[in-house]
Amino acid sequence: MTSPSPRPEILGIHPYVAGESDIPGVNRVVKLSSNEGAFGVPPSAKKAIIEATDEVFRYPDGSARHLRAALGKRWGLDPERIVCGAGSDDLLYQLALSYGGPDREIIMSAHGFSIYKIAGDYAGSRVVKVPERHMTADLDAMLGAVSPATRLVFLANPNNPTGSMISGDAVARFRAALPEHVLLVLDSAYAEYVTNPAYEVGVKLVDATGNTVMTRTFSKIFGLGGMRIGWCYAPPAVVDVLNRVRGPFNVSVAAQAAAIAALSEPGWVEAGREHNARYRPVLAAGIKATGVKVWPSEGNFVMADFGTTEKADAADAFLRARGIIVRKIGGYGLPHCLRITVGTAEEVGLVIEGFQNLARSQARASSHG
Ligand code: PMP
Repeated sequence: MTSPSPRPEILGIHPYVAGESDIPGVNRVVKLSSNEGAFGVPPSAKKAIIEATDEVFRYPDGSARHLRAALGKRWGLDPERIVCGAGSDDLLYQLALSYGGPDREIIMSAHGFSIYKIAGDYAGSRVVKVPERHMTADLDAMLGAVSPATRLVFLANPNNPTGSMISGDAVARFRAALPEHVLLVLDSAYAEYVTNPAYEVGVKLVDATGNTVMTRTFSKIFGLGGMRIGWCYAPPAVVDVLNRVRGPFNVSVAAQAAAIAALSEPGWVEAGREHNARYRPVLAAGIKATGVKVWPSEGNFVMADFGTTEKADAADAFLRARGIIVRKIGGYGLPHCLRITVGTAEEVGLVIEGFQNLARSQARASSHG
């Protein structure tokens, strides 16, 4: 039997590696591998999903009109400039396919979110990964990488998996220095967690320019990763493009209902942000106290740096044997690091205990050796 061939670049794509969720033989698993919100599903969203079951024989509203109106109201945006997707990944793909393509380059930072590379390759673009400085996108180097073929720049702010943040001023200067024909995609998936006053989510730049898009998600602080809902705020011309190419019914009935409900869940975002602001430093300090470096993060996760791949792998195996799943990030060029989501207070405590036990077992091993 002969299998038809896809375009050659497709077979060069490494499939996205999702965070694992179970460990064979372990009953209670603490899953801190996908940066999901610490508090589960907002109660109002759960109710909305159940209520939506009667409606799921019908196609969803393809334009997600009510959801866009609710987003507009919540964040003070024009609903006409919002496009919804099946997760923000959906929109990142559509942007790469629409603005990238053969003979069109896409720029990202070396440790930027992995979907940019996958979507860029899928589009047939050359994806240029620009080295970072101190685990942070080097905007000057990214500008230096711009060529006449560049059409798209993807910048996650804060970035996953490093957690690094770029100030609003620096992003604005970057935008101003990029050629006008280059679309800048600001991926603000973790925006709601950021407490740093120098941060800008991206709205101002989208409003001030015709060539900047901001993407957002319901998968993190809103606790709806499993429903697949994301959205973007974009200039009218980009909205028009996305509405031509996206799946006509890309956000399900239940997902739209859940997202609308989650947006008005009282105090949900504030509680998630406060919890994160309190426990991320606790998690980081607990890990650092065992002699492991932790990079600064503005997201709901931290990146622990063990210095060597062997040490990171050993730590991952040690935690895993105790039911704690964190994320290996070798695929991001960071095999010496592990990314750990800020979970509940109890989960944070379990991770710290895991690191303490790891340090003790290593101390014992070295004193015996
Ligand atoms: N951007 C970044 C930076 C992310 O970390 C993620 C989730 N891993 C996404 C986008 C995609 O999220 P979703 O498709 O669930 O909206």
